[in-house]
Amino acid sequence: MPTRNTPAPGPKLVIANWKMHGTHAGNARLIDALLPGLSAMAGVQVAICPPMPYLAQLAGLLGRTGICLGAQNISERAEGAFTGEVSGQMLADMGCGYALVGHSERRSLYGETDAQVAMKFEAALRAGLTPVLCLGETIHQRRAGNTNAVIGSQLKAVLEQVGMAQLAKGVIAYEPVWAIGTGETASPTQAQAVHAHIRQLLAAQDPAAAARMRLLYGGSVKADNAAQLFAQQDIDGGLIGGASLDADAFAAICRAAISAEPPVGAGLPAKNSTR
Ligand code: PEP
Repeated sequence: MPTRNTPAPGPKLVIANWKMHGTHAGNARLIDALLPGLSAMAGVQVAICPPMPYLAQLAGLLGRTGICLGAQNISERAEGAFTGEVSGQMLADMGCGYALVGHSERRSLYGETDAQVAMKFEAALRAGLTPVLCLGETIHQRRAGNTNAVIGSQLKAVLEQVGMAQLAKGVIAYEPVWAIGTGETASPTQAQAVHAHIRQLLAAQDPAAAARMRLLYGGSVKADNAAQLFAQQDIDGGLIGGASLDADAFAAICRAAISAEPPVGAGLPAKNSTR
């Protein structure tokens, strides 16, 4: 069922999530290997989320390359006695443009609740960051036929906290938990079905904003499956874990995002416009 009656207004977005990997020297080598390939790429927006201690290093390395900096997490608090936490304002101060919120590893390993994720989403917006809201079901929830219900309740928590107008300032990443870091990817059809469901939930709030919102897919995206995933109508890019640590693989995924773009003249605004 078509969920978008207009083409996505803007290039695809590909976000690298380095998770807890990297060293000062290794990061420099990875960016060095990536830049020649990525700097020639108009037609895709790229962001890199390194571990927090390396944000300053990456801000320096990415400089004016056009590649954005993002954080893997954000505190829901603005300031104060919260040992170990990093506020949105600090992330913005470091040069971040994006912050992941509610990654399934944060939800499952660190007990982040829907309510906390909603507060993090709001905190990111307050700091002028674009929150990337991660949603996804476990394999048990999928097998029980509860995928749409799980996604719906994760989304509802944020909608109730911030409302549709604010939610639409963010990005949503559908990341089936069973596909993250497992090598098992959702098929393009499975991914599209959930993306279409998410867009329909958003459209019930505001159809125009829903059509504009970027919905990323994440979960074992690799160079050889990216093109098919990105070709789906409601998939506007990817959140890439493991493969983002390999310069060639990540560059190939970004290239796949460009080739999946509708042809010029299909109703898109100018290249590299942001939403
Ligand atoms: C992720 O960490 O968000 C992710 C999608 O990881 P991977 O690509 O390794 O499955």
